[in-house]
Amino acid sequence: MNSLEVLSEWDSLPSKSFTRESHVDELAISCDCSGLFNLLLSHLSITLPYRLSRPKAVHYFNLLQEIGSNKISTLKPGHLLAWRKDVLPSSGDTGHVLMLESEPVLLRDKVYSVSVYDATKRCDGVSKRSIELHTNEQGVLIGAKLHQDESKVKRMPIYHAKIEGSRYCFGCALPHKMCMCGHVEASKDQTSVVIFRHPEERKKTISTVSLIKQRFPSVLVKDSEVFPEPRAKEREQQVLIFPGGDIVEAGFAQLNMQAEAKSLERQYILIDATWRKAKKILHLNPWLAELPRASLSLDKLSNYLVRKVPSEDALSTVETFASAVGDSALTTLFDLFMQKQIQMIGADCYRQNYAGHINYSDD
Ligand SMILES: [Zn+2]
Repeated sequence: MNSLEVLSEWDSLPSKSFTRESHVDELAISCDCSGLFNLLLSHLSITLPYRLSRPKAVHYFNLLQEIGSNKISTLKPGHLLAWRKDVLPSSGDTGHVLMLESEPVLLRDKVYSVSVYDATKRCDGVSKRSIELHTNEQGVLIGAKLHQDESKVKRMPIYHAKIEGSRYCFGCALPHKMCMCGHVEASKDQTSVVIFRHPEERKKTISTVSLIKQRFPSVLVKDSEVFPEPRAKEREQQVLIFPGGDIVEAGFAQLNMQAEAKSLERQYILIDATWRKAKKILHLNPWLAELPRASLSLDKLSNYLVRKVPSEDALSTVETFASAVGDSALTTLFDLFMQKQIQMIGADCYRQNYAGHINYSDD
């Protein structure tokens, strides 16, 4: 049975309910929105997002953001869709996750009706129903109306991807042949670093942000060139990590001490882009360029600058992130990843150059 057949069977069970603990048997299914898909993935023997025991909507979103698309044109039945809250509550909903049941139908300009399976409180658990998806001029999903009687459209980024036969490992969001599962444990810590990623970085087969997510599965990543200016109060808390700021030797402990003195909760913004694109982002977002800046002393980074890294970044986002939050496990993960990359590049070069030779071996 494929995922839609399984969901159809569960939807027709005599007893359904909405609960935080998930359970399914021959007569009943009880779950919440992420619980439904935790049950489904387990049923299909697919690794749960970031190998968490009980992933939430935010973790589905973070996974789909790495492996999937935000375009309506590539949305197909059987795809999982998710969105997340920027600021996560300590309990309750972190966003929503659902599965597309049939092809999107155009209702009117930039508005589609889609049939989905999901689990909601209002429908007492699993149900099949119609929701509205909204796109911009370019066909990028920008919002949804989850219930017919709602007057407002919720605006937020939405990503989707197929779950069966994916070329990606869900445990780490990397292609299977580059899987990094088992090298690091997901941390429960929320980080105060938000990543502003240039859309071209996301489109790369391997965005190293996947490594950050593997360690910090709820980290907030925003994909855009233009970022809406936050309210003054929020801006007061923000610091941009960017070359040319005050050098911060001791990572963020030092900045946090300064923040505590002013009793502020800091939020650090890290730009994930090539050097040229990062400067363009600052140009397009004057409010960002005006934020106080901090630079980390990046002695360790020089290691990677002399190597051929998978992207042309002058600065390694993972390394900067790891030293910013003072997390050595992430640094170790990145080291291992780089070693694996070099091995793979080596193996491919070897194949290219020697495949015709009589002593060529493929193992
Ligand atoms: Zn993996």
